[in-house]
Amino acid sequence: MIKQRPLADAYGRVATDLRVSLTDRCNLRCSYCMPAEGLDWLPHDETLTDDEVVRLITIGVERLGVREVRFTGGEPLVRRGLVDIVRRTRALGSELQLSVTTNALGLERNARALAEAGLDRVNISLDTLDPERFHTITRRDRLDDVLRGAKAAHDAGLTPVKINAVLLRGVNDDDACELLAWAIDHQYELRFIEQMPLDAQHDWHREQMVTADEIFAKLAAEFTLSPATEPRGSAPAELFLVDGGPATVGVIASVTRPFCGDCDRVRLTADGQVRNCLFAREESDLRAALRAGADDDELADRWVTAMAGKLPGHGINDPSFLQPDRPMSAIGG
Ligand code: SAM
Ligand code: SF4
Repeated sequence: MIKQRPLADAYGRVATDLRVSLTDRCNLRCSYCMPAEGLDWLPHDETLTDDEVVRLITIGVERLGVREVRFTGGEPLVRRGLVDIVRRTRALGSELQLSVTTNALGLERNARALAEAGLDRVNISLDTLDPERFHTITRRDRLDDVLRGAKAAHDAGLTPVKINAVLLRGVNDDDACELLAWAIDHQYELRFIEQMPLDAQHDWHREQMVTADEIFAKLAAEFTLSPATEPRGSAPAELFLVDGGPATVGVIASVTRPFCGDCDRVRLTADGQVRNCLFAREESDLRAALRAGADDDELADRWVTAMAGKLPGHGINDPSFLQPDRPMSAIGG
């Protein structure tokens, strides 16, 4: 009989949403994420193998109450084993929610295979529809690939396709309405995310961040927004109906209106570290235990212990806040 327990913390929260980073590598260089020259990528032997990833996900699902798995990175589509990992995760249960957060490069090629492997949907990151601005932000000239990737995902039934956008002051902060009109036109669900201090360069400045209130004001200049009726629950986005609905737009105010009290997330990095928060300054090394021969019970114990120590909030707004050592791309956004 498999022993089951929740991934609970001291503040009454229970993690059921597992974010799995499959690689820290990426084929874009978004300025709010990493420097132009990229980063020192994890050595291959420190990265979990496909079997190791699937084993840890299985422990999460079968013993620890995980109900949703989101694959991320770095760029998860650059991981060769992605389709197979999705297929093996799907085999753990038809009720599991499975999604991928991606920049969509190469998604045109993979969307159908991912859907057939059992993926439910994708979150695509896209901050502008202007090719020059896209190049300024991502330092690559790949806007068309992203647009084709989004269409392929929609056509493959990986729906609703969600679009994540970060607005940068003076770069794309006047693109909000155009992005929303485009998303509605294509039946994609758009969500804006406040820029967070998780870039590798440590260049984040509060004054530079475009706040949720500003984003709302920009959208309200061209659209009528009303609070969506469904309760927000643990979902980070505040949802608004656009022009009476049914289209919606989300604003994720991670910094100005933190939702830590409702957090149900836990993260596994590509090198097998459990993180109980994006902003955690400590990690719990499941890879070392796994490679030293720990059985599933012991790995589950370590995971439960790692979650028990989750802090009540990310603390970005505290004067003593310290950015975590690892950037978003290495943690798994
Ligand atoms: N490469 C994939 C992508 O871009 O979708 C997955 C990883 S990426 C780190 C996940 C999400 O984090 C993306 O939507 C990206 O826009 C967001 N992100 C990265 N750095 C961020 C930051 N400093 N603040 C807010 N969001 C950030
Ligand atoms: Fe790559 Fe995603 Fe970071 Fe952009 S946000 S550099 S696509 S990992």
